[in-house]
Amino acid sequence: MKTCAIVGINWGDEGKGRMVDLIAKDYDVVVRYQGGSNAGHTVINEYGKFALNLIPSGIFRPKVINILGNGTVIDLEHLSMETEKLRKAGVQITSDNLKISDRAMIVLPYHKVLDELEENRLKDKKYGSTKRGIGPAYSDKYIKKGIMAGELLYPEYLHERLKDILEWKNLTIQNVYKSNPFLFSDISKWLDKYAEEFKSYICDTGSLLRKAKKEGKSILFEAQLGALRDIDYGIYPYTSSSTPLAAYGPIGAGAPELTVDNVIGVVKAYSSCVGEGPFTAEWFGEDAEKLRQAGNEYGAATGRPRRVGPIDMLATAYGVQVQGADCIALTKMDVLSYMDKIPVCIGYESEGKMLESFPLTPALEKSKPLFIDMPGWKTDISKIRTFSELPKQAQDYVLLIEEKINCPVKYISVGPDRDAIILRGTNG
Ligand code: GDP
Repeated sequence: MKTCAIVGINWGDEGKGRMVDLIAKDYDVVVRYQGGSNAGHTVINEYGKFALNLIPSGIFRPKVINILGNGTVIDLEHLSMETEKLRKAGVQITSDNLKISDRAMIVLPYHKVLDELEENRLKDKKYGSTKRGIGPAYSDKYIKKGIMAGELLYPEYLHERLKDILEWKNLTIQNVYKSNPFLFSDISKWLDKYAEEFKSYICDTGSLLRKAKKEGKSILFEAQLGALRDIDYGIYPYTSSSTPLAAYGPIGAGAPELTVDNVIGVVKAYSSCVGEGPFTAEWFGEDAEKLRQAGNEYGAATGRPRRVGPIDMLATAYGVQVQGADCIALTKMDVLSYMDKIPVCIGYESEGKMLESFPLTPALEKSKPLFIDMPGWKTDISKIRTFSELPKQAQDYVLLIEEKINCPVKYISVGPDRDAIILRGTNG
């Protein structure tokens, strides 16, 4: 049995989806263990191009069992749309290859409304939420007002709880936000409808994983977002509301006793960030626009233009550390091919001092980036499949990153397609 986690090292959008799609062929089970429909894992393969919001990226591999673990929050309406879209493209989705943890939390219609109401109230101090109800759903989980997917299998129990929860929820909606209350009849109808659609998918994913372990099967944990958006270790409060760290994989999947043997940290060859919060190496103006266009940096889940800048070694080294990554997949190297020289952020200065490690948000907000320039390679590398064939400047860029973050770069992705990958160590 082997286990592996594919995780984001930075602010998300590093290209985790394409890496899971690539690597899932060697695994029996792929688990999304946190987050919700705010993910947008882009996968391009023989079925087409998809931005997967909820469904694990292993869904395209016929023999893989895909799990939405107890650490996730699931908008069933969104899941219904997503499964339909995939089925239309010819992807098989049944209760045999997609499983929903009975302990996963449900994102209800009022969570999305509350997300929007709060972002609107915050105005220019907003957190940059995707407004998919993720924060409100996780808050309800921890305040014990959430609804677990497994409760859909017990309608009487569910309706009783919903009555109490809704009474409490409407206090906030009406009195704090001066908005319209949600009706029990609407929400219960919504729940009953999706219970009918998904009840055969809901199960105890823990026993499934334990059985898989006994049978020597391999398990891949697929993270959403990146280390810097982690609720505990990220740029709080500009974080997500969950834990995209590899260490949480087994907990959010259903079997906390499992260990993660390998952690593949996905790093983009430059930086990008959706939403608010300090982003030290950020570029503005023409340089930013050129890079944004070259990398097509527009949010997969929201279409929002992403903030962009050079690769940030301090932030990346921190991400590698908290993820416990033992190797790196460096994605989108091909995007940098247009640059004469490639800036690399090698550290920060804050209040006259050089920072040795990634700081807490208040100090981060005052940090200034220190850049060095690496020579560009100015040639198309998208057809190259071995490290030794890469131009010397591209090799040096990879070697510098390895040195600064103290972690080997095992995969180099040079295009969005499944096979546009250099696997180091085996073929040069
Ligand atoms: P994720 O959320 O971490 O899976 O990342 P996203 O899907 O939000 O963003 C990654 C984007 O980059 C997607 O549009 C991918 O198709 C694309 N992509 C991934 N790897 C490469 C690469 O090596 N080169 C190029 N040009 N695009 C890539």
